[in-house]
Amino acid sequence: MRAEWTIDEARSAIAQRQITAAALAEEFYARIKKEDVEIGAFLTLSEDRARAQAERVDKMVAEGKPLPPLAGVPVAIKDVMVTRGLRTTAGSKILENFVPPYDCTAVARLETAGAVVLGKVNCDEFAMGSSTENSAYGPVRNPRDKTRVPGGSSGGSAAAVAAGMAVATLGSDTGGSIRQPASFCGVVGLKPTYGRVSRYGLIAFASSLDHIGPFARTVRDAALVLQTIAGRDPMDSTSADVPVPDYLAELEKPLKEGPSPCGAGECGAGVPAREQSQTSQGTSSGPIRIGVAKEYFGSGLEAEVRAAVEAAIQKLASLGCEIVPVALPHTEYAIPAYYIVATAEASANLARYDGVRYGFRARGARTLAEMYRETRDGGFGMEVKRRIMLGTYALSAGYYDAYYLKAQKVRTLLTRDFDEAFKKVDVIAAPTAPTPAFKLGEKIDDPLAMYLADIYTVTANLAGIPGISVPCGETREGLPVGLQIFGRHFDEARVLRVAHAYERARG
Ligand code: GLN
Repeated sequence: MRAEWTIDEARSAIAQRQITAAALAEEFYARIKKEDVEIGAFLTLSEDRARAQAERVDKMVAEGKPLPPLAGVPVAIKDVMVTRGLRTTAGSKILENFVPPYDCTAVARLETAGAVVLGKVNCDEFAMGSSTENSAYGPVRNPRDKTRVPGGSSGGSAAAVAAGMAVATLGSDTGGSIRQPASFCGVVGLKPTYGRVSRYGLIAFASSLDHIGPFARTVRDAALVLQTIAGRDPMDSTSADVPVPDYLAELEKPLKEGPSPCGAGECGAGVPAREQSQTSQGTSSGPIRIGVAKEYFGSGLEAEVRAAVEAAIQKLASLGCEIVPVALPHTEYAIPAYYIVATAEASANLARYDGVRYGFRARGARTLAEMYRETRDGGFGMEVKRRIMLGTYALSAGYYDAYYLKAQKVRTLLTRDFDEAFKKVDVIAAPTAPTPAFKLGEKIDDPLAMYLADIYTVTANLAGIPGISVPCGETREGLPVGLQIFGRHFDEARVLRVAHAYERARG
């Protein structure tokens, strides 16, 4: 079977009756059963649900009905998004037998658009990690080199696409967990703006940093998935009521933009077009301006990654983009600020796992307090416990001001850095991760080294801006490298457009 389906290829093969949605799903299951033994991406297969959905699509085809945008497209879902009647573990023993009573909005929207959910994919426990080695169900291996990690925490989502076991997948990104594994596995991964995609049904890690977004083989496919999952959801009060543009139409616009519709004094009364573009949704005339910040090219960056990313930026320049230096001076404080805010929020969110409401409950406890303690001790893994302790400490009376409040102030400074930079540029280009995929076991005993894998990604979560990782080269050992592109709030369209133009030029 071919492994390299894109969304359009799968959908049109089904529409033209070259294959049925049911047969396509069976092909993917056959591939999963063969390949996934070594990779370990899938935790649960949802064959009944997939078959029922594929039959619905095939019925539409038979009746000559118009097909929805993802009709029959095989997808997989990170196991931190709840699925009705389908076990959802968050990679944790504490949810080993948890069968949710409702569907995550993003999953429901994919299925409404015709996608066929093949199953749930592995991840770090509660999405805490950068290598997927923190899953209670064993690690995932990188399909490009099975001695290496796929990145994390959405390692299963990235590996499933990279190994051709799903056409697209959903992941979550709290500090880089979509972009970093996309970079490590050589696929596209997009973290949208905070509020762009509903978090309803996403098992919470750090609520002010959590995002849902797509993994795909191409930027166009990522745009298609975003199109179906984006937009206001009454079930999530933090989902934004901001119109969702037609991402596919935006994708094909040239990188050199025409005069702004608001030009020649019509609505700007003497304000030059460039300054009008400095508002968050502004369109400028002239070439797209790409910011490059020296803070993202510092000493921790591996030489081969740097070379690939610099070459990618040169390629964008050759496509007519203007490269502009920008300063993001607070970047060095991003990792400490992130690990305070994220652990503080995690410690609160994880209080609900007490053996009463969900999943695992320790047996044999004699008192209620003992039951809580033994459940949490036996149900959570090491990294989750470390974070609950760190977060509880940061929030405790007497330390709150010194840690949590301070981290929130740093977060504001980081956001302002981006606001300033986006007055001068339309997008910012950077590496996604400082290194290519590392070896399994290499960093597992050194949490600080593991945390530094997120050095270039956590900033976008703290600021809430969109970011994409798109493959931009390989090391001499054949390991993929990702180019990261950040944009203004709610400006995914331009981020996707630049990434798409780059991807096409690279060939
Ligand atoms: N690796 C980061 C962490 O461990 C980010 C995780 C994520 O984005 N879910 O917190």
